[in-house]
Amino acid sequence: MSPEVSIVVPVFNEEGNVRPMYHAVREQMAGLDMGFELIFVDDGSSDNSLAILRELHEEYDEVRVIAFSRNFGHQSAVSAGIEASSGDAVICMDADLQHPPSMIPQMIEQWRAGYQVVYTIREDDAETGLLKRWFSSAFYRFINWISDTPVIPGAADFRLMDRAVVQVLTAMPERSRFLRGMVGWLGFNQIGIRYRAASRHSGQSKYSIRKMMQLAMNGIASFSAVPLRLSGYLGVLAASAWIPYGLWAVYLRLFTNQAVPGWTSLLVIVLFLGGVQLIALGILGEYVSRIYTEVKGRPLYITQQRLGFERRSLHHEA
Ligand code: UDP
Ligand code: MG
Repeated sequence: MSPEVSIVVPVFNEEGNVRPMYHAVREQMAGLDMGFELIFVDDGSSDNSLAILRELHEEYDEVRVIAFSRNFGHQSAVSAGIEASSGDAVICMDADLQHPPSMIPQMIEQWRAGYQVVYTIREDDAETGLLKRWFSSAFYRFINWISDTPVIPGAADFRLMDRAVVQVLTAMPERSRFLRGMVGWLGFNQIGIRYRAASRHSGQSKYSIRKMMQLAMNGIASFSAVPLRLSGYLGVLAASAWIPYGLWAVYLRLFTNQAVPGWTSLLVIVLFLGGVQLIALGILGEYVSRIYTEVKGRPLYITQQRLGFERRSLHHEA
C-alpha cells in the first residue's frame, strides 16, 4: 500500500533545519491518522545536510532521501521530489520552516473536500527585506500583465497537489521550470489558503539575487511571448516616428538650399535605434537560449543516491 501523503522538501545547506523540520512534520501528521513519507531532496549541499539526512533515514522509516550530484536549483529539487513521490496527495514545502507545517492539516482538509490543488498565499511579513518584497511584487504585477496564465502573488512553492495533478505535471517535459506558473496553467479545482510566513529557523536565505533573477526570467519567458513581440512593436514605433523625419530631411536637401541641421539629430537617431536594436537582440537571446536548453534535452537533475524508496512497500503507518 502506498502512503497517502508525500511531503517534498528541497534542501540546500540546511544543516540546522532538517531535523526540526522532520519533527515538526511528524507532529502534524501524528494527529491526522494518515500514512506519510517525507522526501528530502539534497540539492548538492556543501554543509552537513546530507549526513544528517542519512541519519534521519536510518532512524525513521518514513524518511526518503534523494541526493543530487551538484546544485541544480530549487525548482529541479522540487521536481525530483514530486517525481519520486507516491502519495495520493503531495505537499511541497521549504526546509527552513518558513512554510509552517501547522498548515498541513488545513491543506489536507481542503484536499478531502475535493480540491486538487491547494496553494498558499503568503501574507506579507516584515521580516522579508524591502528589496525582495519590492522585487517580488513588481515581478508578479509584470508577469500577470504580460501572461495569459494567472500567477498569484505570494503563492510560492508551498502547495498540495492531488495525484492526478502530479501525473500531468511530471509529464510536462519543459526544462526551464517555473512550477507555480505550470501548476496555474494546468487548471483543475484550485483553492488558496492564507498563511503568515515564519522567519527562517536557521541559516541564511539560499536564494541569491542571481537565482531569483533566473527564476523570474524563466517565469516570464515560459509564460509569455510578449517580450519577444515587444521588440517588433518597438521597431514599428521607432520606424514610424523616424521615417517621416528622414523623408523631410531628404526633401530639404534636394529641393531647398537650407543646410541639413547639424549632427545632433543624427546622433539622437543613431543612439535611439542602437538602443532599440540591442534591446531587441537581448530579448531574442533570452528566448533562443531557452530553446537551446530545451533542444539539448539534458536531464533536469542528476541523482547520485536514493535512500529509503525500497521500503515503501513495507511501511504504511504514520
Ligand atoms: N533551495 C534549494 N536549492 C537552491 C536554493 C534553495 O533546494 O539552489 C531550497 C532551500 O534549501 C529551501 C528552499 O529551497 O528549502 C527555499 O530557499 P530559501 O529559504 O533560501 O528561499 P527564501 O525563503 O529566502 O526565498
Ligand atoms: Mg526560506
